[in-house]
Amino acid sequence: MPSLRQLEFAFRSTDIAVGPPGASPGELIIEPAGKMFARYTVETAVLLQTKGRQLLCSLGAKRIATELRVEWNSRLKTAAGRADYRQKLISLNLKLVEHPAEIDRTLRHELAHILAQFRQKSRRQIAPHGPEWQQACRDLGIADEKRCHTLPFPPKRYAPRFIYRCPNCRRDFPRVRKVRRTVACLACCRAHNCGEFDIRFCLKLLTV
Ligand SMILES: [Zn+2]
Ligand SMILES: [Zn+2]
Repeated sequence: MPSLRQLEFAFRSTDIAVGPPGASPGELIIEPAGKMFARYTVETAVLLQTKGRQLLCSLGAKRIATELRVEWNSRLKTAAGRADYRQKLISLNLKLVEHPAEIDRTLRHELAHILAQFRQKSRRQIAPHGPEWQQACRDLGIADEKRCHTLPFPPKRYAPRFIYRCPNCRRDFPRVRKVRRTVACLACCRAHNCGEFDIRFCLKLLTV
């Protein structure tokens, strides 16, 4: 598994892939670190899922433990995570990768929602952060858990400050942050290099 530093680095590159909020996603092709990041998310989701299932088993929820799935979700905005009891699905905000210390707690917070609902004999929906959830938190080792799901940092909504240009087709790619990786124009890589990364179409930063 790649080191944390590599991951932080790779993670920043996803910022390039999706672009700033509100802007149309630029079509870029990222050097293979993107693949490393994709592999990391798959591997960690499996690990977190295994951990979540073990925790449910150890707390008497064996019946639903094997149904539990954990996914990374890049569409969550400010919420650190989300739990869907019906689907037994925990979604973790992909931005948590930049805050690894928060991942375990978020997993347990969401597990507490699932565990608390499982413990209800009736189908009655319980209050999201009521006494049943608080008890589940205590059982999951996060007795002091707060009710908020928000990420430990504010959402970033900045206007793009950096404009990159493809030297071939002259298309502009506005970005909020400086692009730290070498990226190339996808349209040109597709047109002239079978869709593979090509150094000839690397974006150039225009002076800002
Ligand atoms: Zn919650
Ligand atoms: Zn181009």
